[in-house]
Amino acid sequence: MTLLRHLLNSNVRVMKTCTRGLSSEVLRTNGLCFELNESQRALKELARKFAREEILKKASHHDQTGEYPWDILKKAHSIGLLNGYIPEKYGGPGLNMLDICLICEEFAYGCAGIQAALYVSLVGQVPLILFGNEEQKKKYLGRLVEQPITTAYCVTEPGAGSDVAGIKTSAVKYGDEWVLNGSKMWITNAGVADWYFVLARTNPDPKTPTAKAFTGFIVEKEYPGITVGKKEINMGQRASDTRGITFEDVRIPKDNVVSGEGDGFKIAMSTFDVTRPMVGAGAVGLAQRALDEATKYALQRETFGKPIASHQGVAFVLADMSIGVETARLMVQKSAWELDKGKQNTLAASIGKAYAADVANKCATDAVQIFGGNGYNTEYPVEKLMRDAKIIQIYEGTTQIQKIIISRLLVNAAKENRL
Ligand SMILES: Cc1cc2nc3c(=O)[nH]c(=O)nc-3n(C[C@H](O)[C@H](O)[C@H](O)COP(=O)(O)OP(=O)(O)OC[C@H]3O[C@@H](n4cnc5c(N)ncnc54)[C@H](O)[C@@H]3O)c2cc1C
Repeated sequence: MTLLRHLLNSNVRVMKTCTRGLSSEVLRTNGLCFELNESQRALKELARKFAREEILKKASHHDQTGEYPWDILKKAHSIGLLNGYIPEKYGGPGLNMLDICLICEEFAYGCAGIQAALYVSLVGQVPLILFGNEEQKKKYLGRLVEQPITTAYCVTEPGAGSDVAGIKTSAVKYGDEWVLNGSKMWITNAGVADWYFVLARTNPDPKTPTAKAFTGFIVEKEYPGITVGKKEINMGQRASDTRGITFEDVRIPKDNVVSGEGDGFKIAMSTFDVTRPMVGAGAVGLAQRALDEATKYALQRETFGKPIASHQGVAFVLADMSIGVETARLMVQKSAWELDKGKQNTLAASIGKAYAADVANKCATDAVQIFGGNGYNTEYPVEKLMRDAKIIQIYEGTTQIQKIIISRLLVNAAKENRL
């Protein structure tokens, strides 16, 4: 934590390079600056060093074994690179989302699976950060700060993913407790989390509006009645732990209701505005890695008497990859910046997540193509990138769901004469 604190304290010289010579009045009104400030650069450098030394070298091992990266999580925790979004008031570093994006991009450059394993915990934390009461924040966020442990966000079920309102897990109130029953599926960190954020239906009446029918709960892994399934063998991001969870008459104290009865759907959806920039940043990191690997290979591999980078057909693929990486980074960082400024960032978060996920997939596929036969082989790094990239178009809301959100916002703006 110490190193990170030092970086944060040096934040006073914010935007020094791009503000030189301007009055503070002008600075308040002129908004655009594409330069990281000193502390952001230092944070990025710290995350990069950690990713290159601790993550990248062990990526292949965790990909092959599916072993959860506990050692890496513990090291990241010890230097303050984990749980960055937890406010200082609860013992965390209190980073903003742009900072988190800088960290996650670097981590995913090393391994998108390990980045997910370390940072999906944020998705479990955000419901508490946004809607939890003081006691809940102190207790459950405090735990994450004190110990190298993790958490999970449990919404998806075997029968409902995109259609969140279709979940069947239910909770019924008995006196001072709620009793939870149902099954969740595809839960990242399910097997390793200390506690879960769980969304359940609390009003069985099908006529109840979605906005009132669900409640969010903090569920400790030790509560009796929880059965965690086997680790799923996924296409990629194999360092990350994905499982189903069954809740059978799990008793939850009423103090573990987040916000209030009926607020769950709002909590679950609001969380995505915060976490989609982080997921998008992971996609950018993976795409950058694909570009770097492909560029190095294209300089070293020769065909027809010259490096393949000298063939225009290959060079233009590299150029297109670069266009994707740069533009995806800008959009993802814009969505984080909007959030940090307290603006409604739903549109930018969906555009950034969808676009960066597509760019990551295109870059990884193009990198495999540039590597030729070698690209298809596990001895080289790019086949893993292609496997790791696919899930980014699926979790945290599929690309189709992002497009539904984007188009709905557009249409609403048109209907309300806001275009
Ligand atoms: C590795 C992994 C990790 C995950 N981690 C978590 C986690 O930590 N917590 C959690 O709660 N969930 C998690 N998920 C679940 C993930 O969020 C869902 O898989 C995702 O939301 C899609 O839901 P689904 O799989 O049920 O697909 P479905 O909703 O059945 O969708 C199937 C296909 O139909 C498309 N589709 C659906 N509805 C529409 C529509 N109206 N218009 C157009 N197309 C549509 C989808 O885009 C998709 O292509 C994870 C999933 C995986 C695979």
